[in-house]
Amino acid sequence: AAKAAGKSAYRRSTPALRESAVSRAELIADLRRAVDEEQLRLEFQPIVDLATGAVRSAEALVRWRHPRLGLLSPARFLPLAEETGLILPIDRWVIKEACRAAATWQDRVPTATVAVNIAAAHLRRPDLIATVTEATAGAGLAPRALTLELTESALIEGSDAVLDRLGQLRELGIRIAIDDFGTGYSSLSYLHRIPATELKIDRSFVSRISDDARAYATVEMVTRLADAFDLGVVAEGVETERQHDAVAAIGCVQGQGYRYGRPAALAELRAVLTKAALPGGGGSSR
Ligand code: C2E
Ligand code: MG
Ligand code: MG
Ligand code: MG
Repeated sequence: AAKAAGKSAYRRSTPALRESAVSRAELIADLRRAVDEEQLRLEFQPIVDLATGAVRSAEALVRWRHPRLGLLSPARFLPLAEETGLILPIDRWVIKEACRAAATWQDRVPTATVAVNIAAAHLRRPDLIATVTEATAGAGLAPRALTLELTESALIEGSDAVLDRLGQLRELGIRIAIDDFGTGYSSLSYLHRIPATELKIDRSFVSRISDDARAYATVEMVTRLADAFDLGVVAEGVETERQHDAVAAIGCVQGQGYRYGRPAALAELRAVLTKAALPGGGGSSR
């Protein structure tokens, strides 16, 4: 049976996965070199203010330019990185690069922020605080310009030490977003304990918002919850005009998705930030 399953998995898999199945050890060795050999790169996806269309924020998303396999998405290599612990140097590189990028936006949009994804393993590390403060200070970036995105599952396994660490990060001014909100096991008591600054409503709800009353109700409920808790709220994965209209009508504050822009190179994101900051003039919205 294992053989049959292996065979069908082989047939269904993409070229990159087929190759990695042939030599998993090799891929791990490659990944170990990826940071030092500058094969990782960041793309930035705009996060827009739904009422004004202004872009003041972007999420940094990592990609791996593999020497033989080409450009790999996070889904292709992050599971392996997490298994091997290589996620730590990768995330450290991402935090540092994202801070350097955001520092170059400040002259255009002084309130611009950058969001980075943090693996569960990183949350358990006491040196997370040093990693983050060295990255912001090194880039000359104010801590309030950096958002750490954490998933519910990463937070749920969090000990008191993790909560303390998050509290310290908040005291430094770092923002904390709960990513893919609604897909984990969030309870209300837990939301009281996490010092979050924003909720990111998972794409699975947003994608069904126009034809599924429960998905609509979920987006509405999370938006009200965020308002009541005085948290920011971002609708993830907005692809269509209808989805945009629905999340905007509900009163969700920010949106992210292909409707507004795909993850793009740093220069492209910088151009979008500039363009969005100019119309409307006066800068009264901030
Ligand atoms: P995420 O943090 O929820 O990031 C959003 C993902 O949704 C990104 O996929 C983005 O490209 C995709 N997306 C954005 N808008 C749309 C849309 O309108 N439609 C659809 N179908 N997809 C959209 P990506 O870049 O492949 O990243 C996948 C996940 O990998 C991320 O999910 C995050 O959990 C993780 N990840 C990405 N970069 C990093 C990183 O530097 N460190 C860590 N630890 N995890 C990362
Ligand atoms: Mg994220
Ligand atoms: Mg997300
Ligand atoms: Mg998501």
